Amino acid sequence: MAENPVLEAILIAAKVLGVRKEDVVTKDIIVSEKEKSIIKELVEKRANGYPLHYILGEKEFMGLSFFVEEGVFIPRPETEELVEMALDLIKRYGLRVVADVGTGSGAIGVSIAKFSGAIVFATDISEKAVEVSLKNAKRHGVLDRFVVKRGRFLEPFEKDYEKMEMILSNPPYVKMSARLPQDVLFEPSEALFAGEDGLDFYREFFRRYSTEGKIVLMEIGEDQVEELKKIVPGAAFLKDTSGRYRFLHINRRSS
Ligand code: SAM
Ligand code: GLN
Repeated sequence: MAENPVLEAILIAAKVLGVRKEDVVTKDIIVSEKEKSIIKELVEKRANGYPLHYILGEKEFMGLSFFVEEGVFIPRPETEELVEMALDLIKRYGLRVVADVGTGSGAIGVSIAKFSGAIVFATDISEKAVEVSLKNAKRHGVLDRFVVKRGRFLEPFEKDYEKMEMILSNPPYVKMSARLPQDVLFEPSEALFAGEDGLDFYREFFRRYSTEGKIVLMEIGEDQVEELKKIVPGAAFLKDTSGRYRFLHINRRSS
């Protein structure tokens, strides 16, 4: 639920009135009855658990503003750590071709294209995600280096698989039986849930694709390391800044 309800109400008002959030509290703004009732309705919607960022229509990620809307996963701050690690590796090895599996709003792929100059092949099973990620690629000026197609895993880019030097993903990894906070339940279920134990995506991905010669970095749930060691022998696990194991890492490059 809302951690800071007053701030959220101000953000909603600023969005409806088309002003900066500072202006809501510091300036005298004439608010019409119509605007008042829209603000009231949206604040009530939020109070009932509807995600703030769907109301605002955007979410900041890696210092960039990403369009989000119902049907698309709202990027999370922990995923910024995955992008930072990926950018370091891209620089260190001079990588040119990167994949983003399950791109959602394009948070990972568009940030990588923007900050590294690499070409990104992105996929998603959701048509809405393809549409929104393209809007974000355009917004951040990387349309020429962000190629997105609808499909499962890397199926749309099978013929380019050899070329891919790095594979990134924040896949669905939540257990079917998990109880999630109310606002998360407004997000698409195919973005969150991955079978009974939350591991279906990893199981199928690593059964289908060879990692030979590639670097792989994927977000994982903090309690999934032991099971993932069995599914992906040889993978390493990296901690986030709060000390939890949140990333799976494979580096099979020879140089
Ligand atoms: N990468 C984005 C981010 O970090 O904000 C979105 C992550 S969201 C947790 C997972 C995304 O993977 C969703 O957009 C979902 O539609 C997509 N997805 C789920 N299963 C997939 C599959 N087998 N192949 C491709 N995309 C998939
Ligand atoms: N950490 C996400 C949450 O807030 C789950 C994301 C995922 O499955 N990739 O619920």
